Amino acid sequence: MPFYEYRCNECGEAFEKMMRFSESDRIPACPKCESQNTQKKLSKVASFGTASSDSAGASSSCGPSRGGFS
Ligand SMILES: [Zn+2]
Repeated sequence: MPFYEYRCNECGEAFEKMMRFSESDRIPACPKCESQNTQKKLSKVASFGTASSDSAGASSSCGPSRGGFS
């Protein structure tokens, strides 16, 4: 079952909820203030870390090869 991260717009509480796939479109109430004014957070931490390490490796290998060409 996938984990979803939510944030409450009323009190700012961040919470995680395990949802069935059929329930993934439902908005859960905040566990703290019970408001339904919550929004799903996009979890893109993993892809962001991979992208930054890839670009760092590409830029370092780009320098010497460009110098040899000219
Ligand atoms: Zn709340």
